[in-house]
Amino acid sequence: MEQQPGADPEPQPAAYCHWHPSVETGLSCSQCGRSICTQCLVQASVGIRCPECGKAAKMPTFDVQASYYARAVGVGIGVALGGGVLWVIFNAIFGGFGILSSVPALAVGYAAGELISASVNGKRSKGLAWIAAGAVAGAYIISLPSSPASGYLFSVITVGIGIYIAVLRVR
Ligand SMILES: [Zn+2]
Ligand SMILES: [Zn+2]
Repeated sequence: MEQQPGADPEPQPAAYCHWHPSVETGLSCSQCGRSICTQCLVQASVGIRCPECGKAAKMPTFDVQASYYARAVGVGIGVALGGGVLWVIFNAIFGGFGILSSVPALAVGYAAGELISASVNGKRSKGLAWIAAGAVAGAYIISLPSSPASGYLFSVITVGIGIYIAVLRVR
């Protein structure tokens, strides 16, 4: 049976949280239907859940442990430094102008996404997306002094696309 929260037109008697019996609440677990309050609800992809069902619903691929983050940050810093240096060399050779100047941003974005994803066995999370974005932004910042087009709208847009490519891979 599907429970449609809020779809019931009949007034309900006051419900109290299963875990905090003194707290009145209109919320209930989308899995077992027990009443929960804002203190104990767990946000799941399919709605709100009680602490017990929320534990079971946590998908392992989103459960990125601290060690994974440490590895991702290490790879991200590597991509920022390595990508930044290659970017500077690229600008020195090609001048950093025109359509060609978008190549480093896209390449670093691609590399950041692929390498960070590989370092965490393809896991995805919001935190990893920030690390990937930071890696691309870091490489861009390192390349700025060497880029005659730095700050130009086109260069900002290509960096944005580079960040987008990186984030898509690990989000
Ligand atoms: Zn539940
Ligand atoms: Zn509660």
